Amino acid sequence: MPSVFHKAIPSDRSVNLTIQQNTRHISVAKYAPLSFTRCRHTSRRHQDHAGLSESSDSCPAIRLTPRAARAKARRTMSAQPFLPEDFLLSTEWARTLYFEHAIKQPIFDYHCHLPPDQIASNRQFENLTQIWLAGDHYKWRAMRSNGVNEDFVTGNKTSDYDKFLAWAKTVPNTLRNPLYHWSHLELRRYFGINDIINEQSAPKIWEAANAKLATPALTTHGILTSNRVNVVCTTDDPVDDLAHHIAIKKTGIGTKVYPTFRPDKALVVNTPAVFNSWCDQLAARSNKEVKDLASFLDAIDSRHAFFHSLGGRLSDHGMENIPDTDCTENEAKAIFAAARSGAAATPEQTAKFTWFMMLFFGRLDAQRGWTKQLHLGAIRNNNTRLLKRLGADAGVDSIGDFPQARGLTRYLDRLDSEEKLPKTVLYNLNPADNYIFATAIGNVQDGVTPGKIQFGSGWWFLDQKEAMEWQINALSQLGLLSRFVGMLTDSRSFLSYVRHEYFRRLLCSMLGADIQAGLIPADRQLVGSMVENICYKNAEAYFGLEAGKL
Ligand SMILES: [Zn+2]
Repeated sequence: MPSVFHKAIPSDRSVNLTIQQNTRHISVAKYAPLSFTRCRHTSRRHQDHAGLSESSDSCPAIRLTPRAARAKARRTMSAQPFLPEDFLLSTEWARTLYFEHAIKQPIFDYHCHLPPDQIASNRQFENLTQIWLAGDHYKWRAMRSNGVNEDFVTGNKTSDYDKFLAWAKTVPNTLRNPLYHWSHLELRRYFGINDIINEQSAPKIWEAANAKLATPALTTHGILTSNRVNVVCTTDDPVDDLAHHIAIKKTGIGTKVYPTFRPDKALVVNTPAVFNSWCDQLAARSNKEVKDLASFLDAIDSRHAFFHSLGGRLSDHGMENIPDTDCTENEAKAIFAAARSGAAATPEQTAKFTWFMMLFFGRLDAQRGWTKQLHLGAIRNNNTRLLKRLGADAGVDSIGDFPQARGLTRYLDRLDSEEKLPKTVLYNLNPADNYIFATAIGNVQDGVTPGKIQFGSGWWFLDQKEAMEWQINALSQLGLLSRFVGMLTDSRSFLSYVRHEYFRRLLCSMLGADIQAGLIPADRQLVGSMVENICYKNAEAYFGLEAGKL
């Protein structure tokens, strides 16, 4: 064994040292940020050793015996425990920002797909499959990719336990996919189960999780309360009667739950069967005849007003892109009439009608002080076999490459020039377009509302570590990260609130690294308050929704 060792000497020069040190030093320094080391063998400070680590046998003055070399190799293989308390938080500043600022913030979930009926009824889930796998197309895709038969993914001939077991067997094969982190975090944070998920641990996990699911802690109200979710905005069709939202208000839950107006079916003049069915439902729900374009718009307006009366302040649209076109009122009237009589609109007519309607929807939102959300760029239903078997949202959608820049910027400019541009959040699905979105928002900021036009958080395939960093970096470089309204779940699952933890850790990690590198000031007041704003306070100020106080 080498006869020399290194002694840690306290120092108040940690910031300076850190700047000089290489990556290896930083990874060690996170456990002793206020110390540097001096080599007793050479009496030299180790940062003078071209950035070598504190480990004695890293000293270039030492020649290792074969046995010491093997011992060193074993140490090199050592690892932190899986998902430690400071996971993703690689600097002392990141840990301070996370534990002193981010974690203390409640959650403002301004866009999700939680089923309102399950909140109204305070649903108690029968078993882990019901709360964890049903409806989760991220997991479905992973299982299919892992060779799991569809019967065990979505089939109705297999038991819930069989489906859970198929998932547990899949989890070890999801290493480096965010599902691996999410799944383990979900079991830990909601169920207190720390096991690594695999076929062997599955029976024990099933039993322990189901026992916990039978307690009030894991009803839908229990989950929203314990996660301090002050606001939930669900996603709702304008023809929905919102009875569940009305019922939720009577339950006394501390979370404020609001509907979001998502009128995607108002645009589908290319599929008259769907369009006309929706128009008929709209007529029935609004008690208005829908016989021409004017009455169609009037009926939509009345539903918008109804959502507003229940506290709704957001709309949402899922579309490939905003078409780069124009459409007169007469053109829109003709397209509407043709579709209403059963004739499918051409792609060009559909684009025109979309442009016309999106301007109408923008004006509606502006008039009532709402925020518009645009989810752009998905190419949907790309598997005819599964679409026939399961319908939409079967987990067969992917990232499209539709032109975004011109249609989007013209759309925002047109509404802005009419002084009818609502607050708007743009979600991008194609990372190649991040800079397009991050610059598009800057064209039409109004100098009144901070961050009026937002580049939304990494969406769908992009709500994972790498892509969330891309979004944060694009927004930082081209806009104001400080005005960002932050994370949302966009999930159908009540177990997805760990995604806020994931986002917050990433955010703090990035800012902590910047501080450590001297790129932003080491100022708790400045950076800590920015973290709190992005995690919660910006959203609370921006959306104009009364929040719960959990
Ligand atoms: Zn969504």
